[in-house]
Amino acid sequence: MTQTFHEPSPTPALMLLGERRDPLSERGVDCPGALPSASDPDLVERARAAKEALGDRVFILGHHYQRDEVIQFADVTGDSFKLARDAAARPEAEFIVFCGVHFMAESADILTTDDQAVVLPDMAAGCSMADMANINQVDDAWAQLEEAGVASRTVPVTYMNSTAAIKAFCGEHGGVVCTSSNAEVALRWAFDQVGGVEGDGKVLFLPDQHLGRNTAVIQLGMELGDCVVWDPRKPLGGNTPEALEKARMILWKGHCSVHGRFRRSHVDDFRAKVPGINVLVHPECAHEVVTAADYVGSTEYIIKTLDAAEPGSAWVIGTELNLVRRVANAHPDKEVHFLEDTVCFCSTMNRIDLPHLVWALESLVAGEVPNRIVVDDETQRLARIALDRMLALPALHPAKD
Ligand code: SF4
Repeated sequence: MTQTFHEPSPTPALMLLGERRDPLSERGVDCPGALPSASDPDLVERARAAKEALGDRVFILGHHYQRDEVIQFADVTGDSFKLARDAAARPEAEFIVFCGVHFMAESADILTTDDQAVVLPDMAAGCSMADMANINQVDDAWAQLEEAGVASRTVPVTYMNSTAAIKAFCGEHGGVVCTSSNAEVALRWAFDQVGGVEGDGKVLFLPDQHLGRNTAVIQLGMELGDCVVWDPRKPLGGNTPEALEKARMILWKGHCSVHGRFRRSHVDDFRAKVPGINVLVHPECAHEVVTAADYVGSTEYIIKTLDAAEPGSAWVIGTELNLVRRVANAHPDKEVHFLEDTVCFCSTMNRIDLPHLVWALESLVAGEVPNRIVVDDETQRLARIALDRMLALPALHPAKD
């Protein structure tokens, strides 16, 4: 069967994904005067030569949403937590070059030894979702929950896609980190700390409201009315004390700029156009999209589902474009579509390109460590508590790792 995936123009949606604050001013400008030109015909050869010169001293991690031109040089690929664990399993590598976004590199620094340097090839590669919750806002929200008398019955749970400071907050306040694969088991664990899912305890879920809502309603069987949204710009998050008292899930008002653009109508349009098509989406999508889909899961789950799909079957996938394009190319015997053609690449992920990778590798060869990501000791210690609680959780969905 002819592979029918088509790729939209990147330009319009890249413009639409600009919700973050200026990362250059927040994280420092990188590549001082040495970034190779994107038109340099020798970039591939330069990357190959630098990697070869570094040998086992360097370990390159590539997130599933990275460009092909970068992924070709990755020693391993995966989602954010798998990559951090892969880095931790390579203590002999002096340099971990993380082709992903800032919070991922922080997690890798937390899970690796002090002797290993984690390098982010472009410091402007942030994550709009992670940036929607900063630690000052979360501290303030917690103080308000204390004043409202509900903090003692609330467990904070943060998605992996959050800053190290937010993970540390969860470690300090009896909470846990989760991924899109283990959010259900993490939520069950959190509710168990405050009387169980059937009790009156609460979870403060950071920073992705969609993953929190989808998990609570679809997997834990709660009602939409059990969830309230916490808007950090409003007193009490925009809620009344009564609504907070009644709520079971307090959802931080954050979302992914990419997955948040898919709509229920996109699913309906594909079902009308391609009868029998399988709809597969990431749980960062809105509830209306997830409930309309046939399959929901992490990036690793999406890859495995397509690997196991019948030849000739038709699929439409709602996740980041680089991954969908790669999955489509890997399965020419299946009909693979992208859910919405005005949604585009993750613009911040896409900041890591071949020139930045070459610059980072050649700097390492020259004896400089560029763009090192360092999480301070106390933040590391507390974040590690929340991460270790997650690692101790039982596996609930072995198929969705
Ligand atoms: S795809 Fe969404 S959650 Fe992932 S790095 Fe990009 S903005 Fe963040």
